[in-house]
Amino acid sequence: MSDSSAHPESGPDTVAATGQLTGILRRIADFGASVEGMFGEGDHPAFIQIDRLDGPVHAVIDGRKTTLFGTNSYLGLNFDPRCIAASEDALRRWGTGSTASRVASGNQNGHVVLESTIADFYGRPDAIVFSTGFMANLGTICGLASQGDLILYDSHSHASIIDACRASGATFKPFRHNDSADLDRLLTEATVPASRILVVMEGLYSVWGDVGAVKDLATVAKRHGALVLVDEAHGMGLYGEGGRGVTEAQGADHLVDVIVGTFSKSVGVIGGFCVTSHPALQPLRFLARAYLYTASLPPAVVASARTAIGIIKTDTALRAELWRKAERFCRSVQALGYQLCAEPGPVGSIRMRGKAQGLDMWRSLLARGIYVNLLIPPATPGGKVLLRFSVSAAHTDEDIDTFLGVLSDLTKVAQIA
Ligand code: PMP
Repeated sequence: MSDSSAHPESGPDTVAATGQLTGILRRIADFGASVEGMFGEGDHPAFIQIDRLDGPVHAVIDGRKTTLFGTNSYLGLNFDPRCIAASEDALRRWGTGSTASRVASGNQNGHVVLESTIADFYGRPDAIVFSTGFMANLGTICGLASQGDLILYDSHSHASIIDACRASGATFKPFRHNDSADLDRLLTEATVPASRILVVMEGLYSVWGDVGAVKDLATVAKRHGALVLVDEAHGMGLYGEGGRGVTEAQGADHLVDVIVGTFSKSVGVIGGFCVTSHPALQPLRFLARAYLYTASLPPAVVASARTAIGIIKTDTALRAELWRKAERFCRSVQALGYQLCAEPGPVGSIRMRGKAQGLDMWRSLLARGIYVNLLIPPATPGGKVLLRFSVSAAHTDEDIDTFLGVLSDLTKVAQIA
């Protein structure tokens, strides 16, 4: 999801709710009132409570069996028996938590092996594991760039990239989404040498579900001599013969200096990483404050991440199954008359005409046992209201038919498409 930190302007109807508050308290109260106003009566997307999970994409919400089409569990590995067994074993042998930063209190064997597993997966010598994907961007980008440097980032970038730019001390500017001519212009106009410029993009943009123009952008960046970082948070496990992401699928590995990723999507746990082949970047670990000053991942998470990466590397049938289901789902949604934001794929968004339609559709789907994500501005690029879905290899064909049937019924009733 793109940056959503902007506080909406307070409107006149929020004044009564916030009374005589001033300063920080007033600003926060105004913001809360405007969020409430945005969603009105009825279920609120941010407060849905899942009472029970029956696997990666089946749940009970409000006493109702619900199929989840809004997770990032693309391969269903968070319930894979091999991952669970690895976690259970590590839990018993290593306890529930690491309780410290690795730098302060020593590396556990599992963390070191996970780093060599991920380095090996990407065919690069160095990997650093972080405690979340957000921290992987924060630690890596802030470690790489600082005052006097320039970061050029795709305008659809995730909030963690934007926050990292802000925290780095470097100057930062967005280039138009996937637009290599605009990146070229900014690189040409830059007043710092290209060797001090970091270009940042994503492999797969998970709000629209569109693929990053990694090869085109990285080619331009390299022609100028800039460093290139690609966030493969959503691309990993989905794209490329080896499952390494869009960079691999586009044959752009040799153009990319650093790949960042997360374990919270197809890997099915939590955590993040960066990998590089640059010997000069080895000290990055000691510059990444989001690595140095925080506790490392719990052993059970480390063990299942390692197992899941092994599965992603070898089980190409699982990936093929995901794509078969995703393409069938997307084509059928389009056949119902809906507009998707991008080409069919495992994650994407259906365009809604406005907030009222989006909320109505989201609530109607939930009431019929289908959970998707409702995305509204400012969390969406282009200010659109979107119903975001993700398809998983763990969905059955019947799950997909049920969703399509419900969507078709709602379309007839509300003439929504
Ligand atoms: N980068 C991108 C592109 C993401 O979409 C996300 C999460 N949605 C992150 C980083 C952060 O990852 P995590 O949730 O694992 O912290």
